[in-house]
Amino acid sequence: MRVLLVEDEAGIAEDVIEALRGAGYVAAHASDGEEGWFLGETESYDAIILDLGLPRLDGMSVLKRLRAAGVETPILILTARGAWMERVEGIDAGADDYITKPFHIEELMARLNAILRRGKGQLTATIEVGRLRIDTRRMNVTLDGRGVAVSPLEYRALRYLAANRDRAVPQVELAEHVYESEQEPDSNALEVLVARLRRKLGAEMIATRRGFGYMIGGAA
Ligand code: CA
Repeated sequence: MRVLLVEDEAGIAEDVIEALRGAGYVAAHASDGEEGWFLGETESYDAIILDLGLPRLDGMSVLKRLRAAGVETPILILTARGAWMERVEGIDAGADDYITKPFHIEELMARLNAILRRGKGQLTATIEVGRLRIDTRRMNVTLDGRGVAVSPLEYRALRYLAANRDRAVPQVELAEHVYESEQEPDSNALEVLVARLRRKLGAEMIATRRGFGYMIGGAA
């Protein structure tokens, strides 16, 4: 899962990015509204966390432009305390949820998780695919009720495939949602990672759809 954080305050940005990475997300950061708008419109993210008070282009304009451009990515806005008009305007402009500053990082992560689930039509924090269960709150994976140890990168890949289980996910897309952009993976890395997951979960759990990509759940 790839999340874009648009936040100009360096301290907050650092804390949020650390929490995102710790929770198994690939995190991207924009420190002003222009950059946030550019990345949000040109790159593909699973969610955007958008501060409203931003230099160069304010967050409300970023939000309105993204929605006007047809970007449907779930957006969580960060608003100032007491600024209730801003929250109303934000929700009306297409934000999926808001959180008031200052916030507890745990609450931000819980709300982020909730808008991601709603975006994928998933109602609880657990994703089930056949015999496989992924608890997205604890980042824990079980197969037939038994725990399976997965690395952070394996977890990212598995979660993304599970969240998109209704289709084959192209390799390039999966790589984008597993690796940070600065750690350019070699072309084999993803195949090796999928091979490791197949060893752990059974080869039938991740099918290769030739010309399309990877699909979780096997032939079923
Ligand atoms: Ca700000």
